[in-house]
Amino acid sequence: MLPMLARRLFHLQELALGRPSFRILADLLESERWPRERIRQLQLERLRDIVRQAYEQTPYWREIMDRQGFAPADIRSLNDLGRFPLLEKNTLRERREDMVWRGEGKRVQLVRTSGSTNEALQFYTSSTREAHINAARMRGHEWVGVRRGEKELYYWGSPVELSKQDRVKRARDWLINDGLTNGFEVTPERLKKNFADWLAWRPKCIFGYPSTFVLTVTMARSLGLDLRELRKGGLEVIITTSEMLSAVDRKLIAEGFGVPVRDSYGLREAGLIGHECDQGTMHCMDEQILLETIDPQTLAPTDGEGELVVTNLVGPAFPVIRYRTGDIVTLSKEPCACGRNLSSIHISGGRAVEFVVTREGKWVVGYSFIYIARSVEGIVKFQVVQENIGEICIRLVVDDRFPADGGEQVRKKAAQRLGGDDEIRVEIVDDIAPAPSGKYRPVISKVAEELFAKRAF
Ligand SMILES: [Zn+2]
Repeated sequence: MLPMLARRLFHLQELALGRPSFRILADLLESERWPRERIRQLQLERLRDIVRQAYEQTPYWREIMDRQGFAPADIRSLNDLGRFPLLEKNTLRERREDMVWRGEGKRVQLVRTSGSTNEALQFYTSSTREAHINAARMRGHEWVGVRRGEKELYYWGSPVELSKQDRVKRARDWLINDGLTNGFEVTPERLKKNFADWLAWRPKCIFGYPSTFVLTVTMARSLGLDLRELRKGGLEVIITTSEMLSAVDRKLIAEGFGVPVRDSYGLREAGLIGHECDQGTMHCMDEQILLETIDPQTLAPTDGEGELVVTNLVGPAFPVIRYRTGDIVTLSKEPCACGRNLSSIHISGGRAVEFVVTREGKWVVGYSFIYIARSVEGIVKFQVVQENIGEICIRLVVDDRFPADGGEQVRKKAAQRLGGDDEIRVEIVDDIAPAPSGKYRPVISKVAEELFAKRAF
């Protein structure tokens, strides 16, 4: 499909879904060049609006403001945000139904997170909010030279349960120039086929998880495939998302494909937070979010490095004010050579999602288990542990919504995902402790670590 036509069709699709994403994109491409003071003014106006709507439309936020003894009109500067208490994940889980404004607009609906912190979390979104996120995502892609309508390949998976819709989605994707390659399961045979498909389809950008790219590059090398050939077909950039991208992995992926790697960072419940520009600075979506950092122990505000706390300025259907993300970041206002006046963020930590390897030699990305955990009610946390080939243990922390046959449901879905005859055990546990680094690891596989170290695919 011609890029111009694909862009137009995507535009029409967005409008049909009640999402003025392209109008918002045009605004964002202007405001990113505004003087910083004017951007702060926009943030304050949006903060005041969202606080007023939260007070008028939701019992939870009205209760908070009444208890703290202030009214929406008392928010006069961005510093007044500090009058709100921090919002914990547990509160969001327990009080969710008191936080939603169902009459906000089109498509106010419940969704679940599939973030790299695997704590399954449900929250509400709406067309308004999704339009802002789509626009922010499109802007990030434009920063690195990819305009909506140009060929983008999504290298990841969709949950097994959605396979019936795949054909419809494929047709739609073809019309808007989105390609999809299953990145959940990688085998040498599949990689050879995928590589041939990509050479024929000629994507400008490939978008996916760092861990999948690392595996792809490493496996391609051992198979003698040169991924840099994709440049001849027009590949210009790899964009990563959803997991921590370490410097080592970035270098490996960039060398493997022979193009720059640009990272993005978002949380489903809080919105798109940052996207790297062509200078490699991860700029924050300042028009849509307010960011703070705190000391995770004392909860005191910090200057620069600390746990990220997010306030979403553009999602009135489900106000998210001072939400504790659990991620350790460094915020900065240093100017960037690209000339955009947006602040920037650096995320600390290493790779967070890993693989398990089946007896048949299939590498299954940890993300696919997040989808499984998301599809069963009442799973609060999960962890997949693989000590030996052919054996997989899924540990679950559950609450009272977890059905009696929940363990069996998870086991069946995992078996379906893995294929083959690997033994799958499901254990219900009281809690799952984070790794010594403090970061929660959804998948820990000694088998994958050992095979990867030996390049034994
Ligand atoms: Zn920049």
